[in-house]
Amino acid sequence: MKVLVINCGSSSLKYQVLDMTNEELLCKGLVERIGMDGSVITHEKVGAEGKFKLETPMSNHKDAIGHVLNAITDAGHGVVTSMDEIGAVGHRVVHAGEKFASSVLITDEVKAALTECIDLAPLHNPPNLLGIDACEALMPDTKMVAVFDTAFHQTMPSESYIYAIPYEYYEKYGVRRYGFHGTSHRYVSERAAEMLGKKYDELKIITCHLGNGASITAIKNGKSIDTSMGFTPLEGLVMGTRSGDLDPAIVSFLEEKEGLPQGGANNILNKKSGVLGISGVSSDFRDLMEAANGGNKRAKLALDVYVHRVKHYIGAYVAELNGVDAVVFTAGLGENSKEMRELICTDMDYLGIKIDPAKNAVRGKEAVISPDGAAVNVLLIPTNEELTIARDTFEIVSAL
Ligand code: AMP
Repeated sequence: MKVLVINCGSSSLKYQVLDMTNEELLCKGLVERIGMDGSVITHEKVGAEGKFKLETPMSNHKDAIGHVLNAITDAGHGVVTSMDEIGAVGHRVVHAGEKFASSVLITDEVKAALTECIDLAPLHNPPNLLGIDACEALMPDTKMVAVFDTAFHQTMPSESYIYAIPYEYYEKYGVRRYGFHGTSHRYVSERAAEMLGKKYDELKIITCHLGNGASITAIKNGKSIDTSMGFTPLEGLVMGTRSGDLDPAIVSFLEEKEGLPQGGANNILNKKSGVLGISGVSSDFRDLMEAANGGNKRAKLALDVYVHRVKHYIGAYVAELNGVDAVVFTAGLGENSKEMRELICTDMDYLGIKIDPAKNAVRGKEAVISPDGAAVNVLLIPTNEELTIARDTFEIVSAL
């Protein structure tokens, strides 16, 4: 079966087609500027030379999906002769609240449940639902599956997810910690068990998803027991432009001092904070490292604060797990920066966490980077959320 994977944002969407007989990636692409001037699709067929690019008006997500379907069925750069060859579509959906703890076949009831979650993810769930509607309109007979960022963390015990605020806000509004990047944490932790030749449900694993958004998860016997993102993806680690954890009193303090409009502090904490806010240089770690190496003190400070927070969470999760078998690094920074992996794992030998500099000199491919015989295995595992979405979709639709 061939599966189309769709990850739909408000003005962009990413897609892939995978052949699930051998989990082979056939093509991938990106549509940008949906509903704006300059809408463009960039499509890449695996094994073919160059990319197909088409700039053409796309006023909504249905137009965009229409161009995706044209691209994948095209006689030249396509990967199927007709849409009948696509057995199912897997959709990434950000927030399922407490409604789903695993991926599900999309039905009208599922869509209604996800619509109820819009309050929890006002920026993400609406475009995810638009993508589902557009695919349903253009492929009315194709089965569709939703795979949620929050689902993997639904195994967290209540002591991990309840905030110490009046309980009625949890009951009335669902104010609790949900966690995100679940598809990534699940993929890399399962892969870590495979790479180590151990049983997934017998391991204690800490997964560090360090990208533009960043989160850490503690996984015990195959289940997420805690994660650093919370009610929204703002909590936890310092990120590119997000503050992560801070004293909540700062919000009203800044609103008063700066005369911020309603939502102003939220905007600052999401878009102007993190390593960008500290350094004033960039949210991109490559720029920060270059600036820090060139003597920029605030860029260096931003990196120090970033590393400090990651170490803080690793230590906390070793305590919660009562030990750790493996620490995994993934996503843009975790996969590509040997410097950051080394900084994070320096002076962690009390916990048995160490890196072998020679093994750590690797980028973007699977590797065990701890010394042979180390108490804790440290691994680099490129994440693959699309493959996880395709696997869940294939499994659910095959079982129908
Ligand atoms: P992601 O959100 O997973 O795509 O990660 C994006 C982030 O990864 C970027 O903001 C960069 O800061 C970081 N990144 C990517 N490549 C490198 C690299 N070679 N060195 C350091 N950071 C990198």
